[in-house]
Order: sequence, then C-alpha cells, then structure tokens
Amino acid sequence: MTPPVSLLPGGSAESSASPVAEPLTLGVMGGGQLGRMFVHAAQTMGYFTAVLDPDAQSPAGRVSHRHIHTDYTDSSGLQQLAACSAAITTEFENVPALALRELAKLRPVSPSADAVAIAQDRAAEKAHFVKCGVPCAPYAVIESADQLTAALTQNLLPGILKTARMGYDGKGQVRVKDAAALRAAWQELKQVPCVLEKMLPLGLECSVIVARGRDGQMVNFPVQRNLHREGILAVTEVYEGHLPEALQLQAVAAARAIAQGVNYVGVLCVEFFVLQDGSMVVNEMAPRPHNSGHYTLDACDQSQFDLQVRTLAGLPLTPPRQHSAAIMLNLLGDVWFDAKGAKRLPDWSSVLALPGTHLHLYGKTEARKARKMGHLNVTGASAKDVRDVALQAAAILGIEAF
Ligand code: ATP
Ligand code: MG
Repeated sequence: MTPPVSLLPGGSAESSASPVAEPLTLGVMGGGQLGRMFVHAAQTMGYFTAVLDPDAQSPAGRVSHRHIHTDYTDSSGLQQLAACSAAITTEFENVPALALRELAKLRPVSPSADAVAIAQDRAAEKAHFVKCGVPCAPYAVIESADQLTAALTQNLLPGILKTARMGYDGKGQVRVKDAAALRAAWQELKQVPCVLEKMLPLGLECSVIVARGRDGQMVNFPVQRNLHREGILAVTEVYEGHLPEALQLQAVAAARAIAQGVNYVGVLCVEFFVLQDGSMVVNEMAPRPHNSGHYTLDACDQSQFDLQVRTLAGLPLTPPRQHSAAIMLNLLGDVWFDAKGAKRLPDWSSVLALPGTHLHLYGKTEARKARKMGHLNVTGASAKDVRDVALQAAAILGIEAF
C-alpha cells in the first residue's frame, strides 16, 4: 500500500483535514516502556494510540487509548490493530517479522519488516554492516558442528558466543576462552544458530540515534557515551567533551550509512565499540528508540519518541537540538533491594531534591533484579554540574559510581 504523505491529527492523507474529525490513531506492536514513551509522545501531538501486547498489564497498554491483548501473530489481533490505526510501528525488535508483513498489507508500517528482520538476526545484521562498509568485530556464523570446527582456525578466541536471535541485555551470550569452552557453550545454547565474536579490548562504548523519513530525509541526535555493566546499559553521558569530535563524526556517518543501506524509515539506534587503540567497530542496531536515547526526553528540544511519531506520521523532520548537558542512570530492579538483598523503596525524595533530576518510572508493579524499571535523567548547564548531581543520585540509590 502506498504510504500517505502526511498523517496529521484530525485529518488523513486521503481526506482533507477537518477540525472536528476524530483524531487519527497510531498503532504500536509491543507494550513495553519504549511503547509507553511513544504513546506519550503521540498523545501529546493529538493522536489516539493503539497498543498490541498479550500482557494486560503492559506499561504501554495501560496508558494507551486502545489495548489489544493478543499474541503478536494472532491474526484477529493484527486485523483489529490495522483496522483502527492509520500507521503502525514497533517498539521491540523481536516482534515477528511475519506479523509486520501482514500489517504492511493493510497499513503503512515503519520500520519495515525487512529492516526489523535484519536487526533480529545477528548474522544478517553483521552482513548488512559489512555491505554498508562499516567494520564490525571479527566473527563467524555457527549453525553446524563443521562451522564450529572451522571457526576454531579463525583466531576468534577468546570470544563471545551469541545466539543469532532473541538476545538482549547480554542474555544468550557465553564468554569462551578455548575450543573446549566453545563446544560446551554451544551445547549449553542448545546448538541454535549463533555467531562467535572475537572478544575485543574495549576503550569505550557509544551509540547514535538517527531518524529517517519516508522521503529519505535523515536527522540524528548527538552521539551518546554508554557504560554497560554485566551486559546491561547502566549509564549514558552526553555533554561537551564526552567524546572526541572525530569519533562522533565517524559514528554518525556509519549510522547514517547503515540506515540508508536498508532504506530505513523510523528511529534507529546503532551501537559501537571504540577499541583501546582508538579504532571503532559497530556492535549492533536496534530498529526503534533505545535506552541510550532516553536523555533526549529532558535534554533535547525533541525526544527520540517525538521523532518516532514524526517518521511514522510522515511529518517533517528537523535536526534535534540538545540544550542541556545530560546523564541518564538506568534504574534496574536492583535499586529496589538494599545491600543485604531485602526489598526497599528507593529514596526518591532525596534524589528529586537534587537540581536537574527527572524521574521516569515505567509503571511496572514488580521489581526484579536486572529488570528495567525506569531511568533518571540529570540535566544541567555543564558536564561538571551533571556529573556532580548524577554521582550523588547514584550514591543515594546504591548504584556504583562511574
Ligand atoms: P542489548 O540489550 O544492547 O541488545 P545484547 O544482549 O544484544 O544487548 P550486546 O550488545 O551484544 O548484547 O553485548 C552486551 C555488552 O557486552 C556490550 O555492550 C559490551 O559491553 C559487551 N560485549 C559484547 N560483545 C563484545 C565483544 N565482542 N568484545 C567485548 N565486549 C563485548
Ligand atoms: Mg547491545
């Protein structure tokens, strides 16, 4: 189906806008926190929203006008979503590409099933990076015992064996030192298709978020510097001097090439490793807004979710502007436990008494260790200001200093 030029609230591409028309509905596959923040941004611009997620208590479903709770592949659920939505996006990459293909027969869907399918599969993703001329870590695809044996000759150890599909937050990954450990790890991962990646000496990690419209117009946010702990994003920092200029230019050019290479429509995050020798390789991409972009909610004149709405609705894109130095602390369920492992309520009053703190909680009722419960943005006039406050907030919350 031909995508409409622009879906403004109160009108549609097909009929001319009427001030009293029902607002248009934007649909989203997935009801997690990213969907919730998309819903908030869409509603701010006057859209109605519809969320498809099997969980009746999903963070996005709870704040959306409509919540269809069926499975992602349930054809009646998909029909309902398409029937009420003018255009549909996704908030997590593991939504079955088949479901997006079904929806795309009925409504404009962005990002496309093809782009999401690449991001869902580490082997396809790495092949895409290579095609776009962006280097990634040395790797081998392992789908058979023969491929595993062949990989042993490729100087990839010590390495990380990662399942090709369904991994997130470091899940589905095993660090392997030698051939015996690699064989054992592949057994442990039930011999599903994997990639073996060489373990690289990381200097730092960073990411870039780009938004690309149907017309190919592209804008990007500043490059984020990220700290991961145990495979999960812990801290994102974005302020003057947080990264060398040349590195930022390189990361932005690479992210744009990766988006362009798949004719991407929507918001895309590309994660990079900067090695100790200063060289840069791409790690992975997420076909949606990203945890490392949450600082944009408070530190930029448009957030990554605003741009997701604009790309979905076919509205113009203008370069977002960061107006404040920013640090984001990820609030994992761990913050709800004290040092002895007993449950507690985090001391929000002390945190919010600090200047420039913005608390975002996702409405999840149960705190579990490593579960993303929310994030704290700290904004300020300078790097020093935000670092001082963020470190104080981290100490109050029991988050390790950085
Ligand atoms: P996400 O939640 O970002 O999707 P994921 O499960 O896809 O996470 P990766 O991004 O592959 O996991 O890896 C998580 C973290 O593990 C990285 O951010 C990095 O800190 C570390 N890591 C992954 N691959 C390598 C590597 N080849 N060399 C060194 N460190 C690595
Ligand atoms: Mg990652």
